[in-house]
Amino acid sequence: MGPMTDAPANTALIVPLTQPTPEAMRAGMDAATQAGADMVECRLDYLQRPDRAALRLLLEGRPLPVIATCRPTRQGGRFEGSETDRLGILSAAAELKADYVDVEDDCDPARLPRARTILSHHDFSARPGNLEAIVRRLAESDAAVGKIAFAAAGPDDALAALDILRSAGRPMIVLAMGEGGLASRVLARKFGAFGTFASLEEGAESAPGQLTVAEMKCLYRWHSIGAATAVHGVVGCPVAHSMSPAIHNAAFAEAGIDAVYVPMLTEPGPESFNRLFDALAGAAWLDFRGLSVTIPHKQNALSRVGGDSVDELSRRIGAINTVLFGGDGSPRGWNTDYAAAIDALAAGMGIAREGLAGRAVAVIGAGGASRAIVAALAQYGAEVTIYNRTFPRAEALAGEFGARARPLEAVGELAAEIVINCTSVGMHPKADETPVPPEALAGAAVVFDTVYNPIETRLLREAGAAGCTTVSGVDMFVNQAVEQFGIWTGQPAPRQLMRSIVVEQLSRET
Ligand code: NAP
Repeated sequence: MGPMTDAPANTALIVPLTQPTPEAMRAGMDAATQAGADMVECRLDYLQRPDRAALRLLLEGRPLPVIATCRPTRQGGRFEGSETDRLGILSAAAELKADYVDVEDDCDPARLPRARTILSHHDFSARPGNLEAIVRRLAESDAAVGKIAFAAAGPDDALAALDILRSAGRPMIVLAMGEGGLASRVLARKFGAFGTFASLEEGAESAPGQLTVAEMKCLYRWHSIGAATAVHGVVGCPVAHSMSPAIHNAAFAEAGIDAVYVPMLTEPGPESFNRLFDALAGAAWLDFRGLSVTIPHKQNALSRVGGDSVDELSRRIGAINTVLFGGDGSPRGWNTDYAAAIDALAAGMGIAREGLAGRAVAVIGAGGASRAIVAALAQYGAEVTIYNRTFPRAEALAGEFGARARPLEAVGELAAEIVINCTSVGMHPKADETPVPPEALAGAAVVFDTVYNPIETRLLREAGAAGCTTVSGVDMFVNQAVEQFGIWTGQPAPRQLMRSIVVEQLSRET
């Protein structure tokens, strides 16, 4: 690649503009400036008439540096005209002093416009098998910048993209497209990429997985990401609606910790989980520190971390939701769900965990959340009865932890001081449902609903009306995030801030 004398000092936040008229595209340029973009990419293939007049309107007196791109359909773009016409448009853009002209690496080099070029390679199906050869070819060209964008099967592909960036020795653009590749966009700045693309607003993306400028700047704190930034993330499927990125990124900012937290969509199954885990554990250059694990990977995470690297109760539960990387030795795991639940309950009752000994607890549900809570209650000596729709699951769980099992139909006659809902009954959008008839709450003193959306479930509302102390799923959710933060950073978490973010996000959703 040619010299990069006037490349941006920091990774540029580049907004692609895909409006159909030059006037609208120019207005988009002004909006991008307002939003805090460093550069725009004018997608000339989206213009109805990409003629010289249009180019003049776009380029004369422009507020930001411009990349001129006219992507042909064969490379995922919209330009359907001849190659001669297409290269003519790009040459005109070069004559009108576009800052960069994007040319695809399958173009005839003899016909390329004389300009400062971004030589680009796209693969919309998968990470190319010959990635190294492509990188070498781009590096040996005369282009000012090399760009590679490929479809990500998962976050390990994002890591592959970042690995190219860090070893390139000069700024490039390397993007793993799609939700699984999101980390390649957010972390581009950590590895000194030439730029990353972010759309002006939702719906204006020019490639799958693109975030908005606002998300980059506010949620991921783009401008504070640097070479030393520690990386954290959540692995799950789905993860798009996880509140954890909002909570942990805000908490890092509040605590003044140089760290970022990204979602990592990973297909179900131990193979895809292990592939990501091994990639994270093997990438010392990534500064990866903390992993949150959510459905469906909590058991996979325990299997991969290994029973010797977790506490006894997590081992018995058979699932973990937190991993710490980068300490001395191999990664270690925790289940912060059980501690979060038991601490929310104890705090609500104004007692210590040990105070749960001998108390009668009715647990509704026998899935993953129930398993963690039943294990912890048993550990602290509570007398647990499990009610579940699928009775054999209740029996199996009860058998493991010395509890009693009853069919769900018997919940109307429950006789327990503490009632805990560990089913999804009552969760948004079916918020008018409840797992326990109100008359059955008469003898209870405390009702804890692990469901946190809505914040006040029908069960909690009716429990409050019956005079019970109520404990909400929000408390449990905040507790597990607080614990994770402590494990990763060794510092106390800003609990109030984290709680307010959870409440704000939930209020927006319901
Ligand atoms: P899971 O493993 O899929 O278990 C779901 C449980 O709900 C099972 O016992 C299932 O009964 C029962 N269930 C589902 N639909 C039902 C219905 N219509 N009627 C009766 N029972 C029904 O899920 P999980 O991971 O344990 O999560 C359960 C809930 O816990 C979630 O929805 C979430 O609200 C809550 N949770 C909260 C937190 C927090 O931080 N606050 C954390 C984790 C989970 P069957 O066995 O008969 O299918």
